Amino acid sequence: MPEKVVVVGAGPVGSLAALYAAVRGHDVEIYELRQDLRDPTTTPLTFTKSINLALSERGINALRHTGLPDLAESVLNETFPMHGRMIHLERNDQHHQLPQFYDPRGKSLLALDRAGLNKVLLDHLESMPNVKFFFNHKLLSVDFKKQLAWFDRHKSSEAPEERGTEIEINFDFMIGADGAHSAVRYHLMKFVPMSYQQEYIDKLWCQFHIPPSPAGDFRLPPNYLHIWPQDESMFIALPNLDKSFTATLFLTRQGFSKLDVSGNVVPFFQSKFPSVVPELITADELQKQYKDNAHLPLITIKCSPYHYGSTGVILGDAAHAMVPFYGQGMNAGLEDVHTLFSLLDRYPIDRATALNQYTAQRTPDAHSINDLALGNYREMATDVKSRVYLLRKWVEEK
Ligand code: FAD
Repeated sequence: MPEKVVVVGAGPVGSLAALYAAVRGHDVEIYELRQDLRDPTTTPLTFTKSINLALSERGINALRHTGLPDLAESVLNETFPMHGRMIHLERNDQHHQLPQFYDPRGKSLLALDRAGLNKVLLDHLESMPNVKFFFNHKLLSVDFKKQLAWFDRHKSSEAPEERGTEIEINFDFMIGADGAHSAVRYHLMKFVPMSYQQEYIDKLWCQFHIPPSPAGDFRLPPNYLHIWPQDESMFIALPNLDKSFTATLFLTRQGFSKLDVSGNVVPFFQSKFPSVVPELITADELQKQYKDNAHLPLITIKCSPYHYGSTGVILGDAAHAMVPFYGQGMNAGLEDVHTLFSLLDRYPIDRATALNQYTAQRTPDAHSINDLALGNYREMATDVKSRVYLLRKWVEEK
């Protein structure tokens, strides 16, 4: 029997969950705080600016199992393969670039634009007659027993804090995919004894754009995730299809504060990250982007259970936001969708059992991947350097 499935959040995870539900014939309603990101007039809010992500096997597998034959291919067509990481170091005034491949059989991570992925998913949803979108709708409250939810319908995502009109809706099943600061999770906690743990780590991130060279080519070898490891700080760059790179500076709060006060962004980059300024980005651009682009925190969240009875569940960052150093936050969220619907298919008339099993299976997996993500900062910013030396020694000896 088709049921009314309400998805809160039209990010990558909510959109994929809505597709899985729609393919199964349910009446799907998607409520999203912001405006439709495909609308050309949409100005992204700072914290939702599109980022370049690494898509891995875990996420690709979930995209392949929607039941829509061309979906995964249309996403994969917009990706750029990264066969390994390229470590950038300076020794004896020389800039060394040393590759480390990810997989001996040649498997790659795929660089993709989060907004691009989101658009493909929304386009597929739009073509399905049993899907309705409600953009500019902010979830205010949920009653998982009465299966009712309240949203604020505002006119513009530019000012979601300004109250619009409150609406009440009913649902059979709610999927909360409303990100790290999930309102669904907040209300779920009132219905289940949820254990919850969150931590802001001592790193902020700031994004930079490295344009193509004047000749219109990549400024760095393109098939790599580039890393400038410096222990307390790290600079990374991922390739884009238009031959630019999206780069990110990770640095402690104190490090950012010092740069804010001193304004010494260019000397800092020159001392830490060889051949970035001015080879990849001019001093003026670097300073401008450091000033204009937000310096954002990183949160890690663990909670459990993820569901209430047979009426609600949380997925993606809402359930397990993680730091980005393992490149698995979104991938794990997409995998949540595949795992959830596999269980719902196994128990077609007993959603409560499916959700119980979902929490039981997913909690240890999500907690482990959160821990791996935290640990991988050290791998990327420090440990890769010792491996580089081992590799160099090995190459020199050959
Ligand atoms: P989100 O993308 O946060 O989407 C949530 C949606 O819910 C948003 O559209 C929001 O507007 C909406 N919403 C919020 N509140 C409400 C409300 N009250 N009512 C209605 N709607 C609401 N992951 C990877 O897999 N690989 C990577 O390489 C990678 N790199 C990253 C790099 C950085 C710097 C960062 C910060 C993250 C990275 N991630 C990566 C993590 C990835 O971005 C997230 O895990 C992913 O975006 C989570 O998707 P989501 O759909 O669960 O949540």
